[in-house]
Amino acid sequence: MKALVYVGDATVRQLEVPAPRPGSGEVMVRVLQAGVCGTDMCVVRDERPKAEAPMTLGHEFVGLREDTGERVIVNPLLACGCCRACGEGRAHLCERRQVIGVHRDGGFAEAVAVPEGNLVPAGHATITQAAMADPIATALHAYRLGAAAIGSGPVAILGAGSIGLSLLFVLKRFGVKDVTVTDLSAERRAFADAGGADRTAEAIEGSFDVVFDSVGAVATRRDAALKVRPGGVAVLVGLHSADLAFPAGPLIGGERTVNGSFGYTPYEFREAVAMLPDLDTRWVHAVPFAQAEQMFTRLLEGSLPPGQIKLQMRMSA
Ligand SMILES: [Zn+2]
Ligand SMILES: [Zn+2]
Repeated sequence: MKALVYVGDATVRQLEVPAPRPGSGEVMVRVLQAGVCGTDMCVVRDERPKAEAPMTLGHEFVGLREDTGERVIVNPLLACGCCRACGEGRAHLCERRQVIGVHRDGGFAEAVAVPEGNLVPAGHATITQAAMADPIATALHAYRLGAAAIGSGPVAILGAGSIGLSLLFVLKRFGVKDVTVTDLSAERRAFADAGGADRTAEAIEGSFDVVFDSVGAVATRRDAALKVRPGGVAVLVGLHSADLAFPAGPLIGGERTVNGSFGYTPYEFREAVAMLPDLDTRWVHAVPFAQAEQMFTRLLEGSLPPGQIKLQMRMSA
């Protein structure tokens, strides 16, 4: 079968690979559509998370169960079920956490073997919406980590990329008012305006109850930490840089909290799936699989237009 494989040396290739063989408790899923995520870029650049080449990437995908024909969305987070985090219902923090498409072969392929417990029925979502479950669930989890600090003050989202716009969607679903979205790209700010942002700007100014950093650059993390009001929360979601740098004074003197956010609980994944039919996907671009290698390489080079925020590949046709 066809697959887009990370072959090491910062390279992905479209290759012919053997079809997977489902193990016990696993189901074959025929992939319909799969999204490319910043995490895939990190893997290929040999940053965190680490994958062992050769590896078929792709953790954001929707497909058909081979046994029943049902349309399903795959929760890519695999947990052991018996460590402390799993016992606390926080499977995303499992000591033995693995991600389908990072630690084992993923959705940039015609078929994937997936543990049955990780399948969620796609319901009324379109295929494009269905392949957005992972970013929406990621945004939902980040929102929850900041929600208690959201009062009458404004809230900011740094970056109008896939996670930033997903955060905006989630915040508006939960009725959060006065949301500012910042991005350097006017095209991306326009998507934030269309998504219901109360204000958009190139850079963050002011003081906020909560700031969500979806970019993950040293500068945006610093902005997030220093632009929350005393007692406020900065939620760091973006993974771009490995580093963190800001003065300790405002954190200590203002009792500001900096909270990392990763993934989602299995329950949040299901919650996100239920929200998908309302998601406006005008900023998602689906390309035929034949173009996937080229598009992925352009994404790595940073040469895709800024308006092409989320890229998905269609595995059929
Ligand atoms: Zn993702
Ligand atoms: Zn565990």
